[in-house]
Amino acid sequence: MDPSLARRSFVGVLAATAAAGSSGLLQGAGPLAQSLTAPPPDRLRPFRFAHFTDVHCFAERRAPEGFAAALDHVQAKGQAAEMILTGGDLVFDSSETSLGEARDRWDLFNRILKERCRIPVEHCLGNHDVWGWCTAKCGSRGDEAEYGTGLARAQLKLGSEWRSFDRAGWHFIVLNSISPDPKSGCGYLARLNEAQRAWLDQDLAATSLPTVVVAHAPIMSISPAMSGKDLATADNVNQVSGGLLHLDGASLHQVFRKSGRVKLVLSGHLHQIDRCEAHGITYCCDGAVCGGWWKANANHAPPSYALIDLHPDGSFDHRVLEYGWKNA
Ligand SMILES: [Zn+2]
Repeated sequence: MDPSLARRSFVGVLAATAAAGSSGLLQGAGPLAQSLTAPPPDRLRPFRFAHFTDVHCFAERRAPEGFAAALDHVQAKGQAAEMILTGGDLVFDSSETSLGEARDRWDLFNRILKERCRIPVEHCLGNHDVWGWCTAKCGSRGDEAEYGTGLARAQLKLGSEWRSFDRAGWHFIVLNSISPDPKSGCGYLARLNEAQRAWLDQDLAATSLPTVVVAHAPIMSISPAMSGKDLATADNVNQVSGGLLHLDGASLHQVFRKSGRVKLVLSGHLHQIDRCEAHGITYCCDGAVCGGWWKANANHAPPSYALIDLHPDGSFDHRVLEYGWKNA
């Protein structure tokens, strides 16, 4: 069945059920009430979407073929994904290239999507999608329309760096993890700026739906503890780099917790696969479509994406899949 038709009939049944309930038809426990309250088959069907993070699309290392293979895999018969939600770092590497080269990489990314993808795509931005902060490498002045996220937003037709939307009875919040590092002319820190934080508070307060949050950098993750060296030193205990994790992760967790709406928080950036749960909120770091930047790399996740089923009751199923691509 056409998924959009299935959703429409589901919404139609919900509306009819709500109307019947308000007129008292559903009161009582007789056979009629049971048949009206029993959910139709479509009601039980979850909304399935794929989380594609860290594509790092560019013309080298067979990245275009790998990206196309991932798109073919998620749309293959049996997968039945109805949407792709990207997780940032879509191109490699807008942040350290000239404007012409960065444009070429975005054009390549968009061309592959247009040619191979038949389902809706919603985009999230990452640190490699920024252009111009590295003025020496980018040849930027700082006043270009493409500076910062300008190029990525134009390429992806995004009105804002952060936003939200509703789909199939769930609320989706797309955050921008990446802020410029004020101590570095070129670097970034993972955290929300004040305007985005204020928007997040308002957005969460305005929804009554179960909510999925996506941010490029993890808000909570255990992977930095496995990064190959101990994080704490005698001089500097408990230090975790703002280049790895959200510096404001603890307070964001409290915001999510207080809302009572946030069920699932997705991220990428680390090219690792992990999952942790706290206070009923699940945080998943979903590997990378490119694996180890389109090179064989035993220390990072294999080329992979996540497939998520969102159920009408606010629960979900989440798994990470390898899509059969092997990096050389
Ligand atoms: Zn990243």
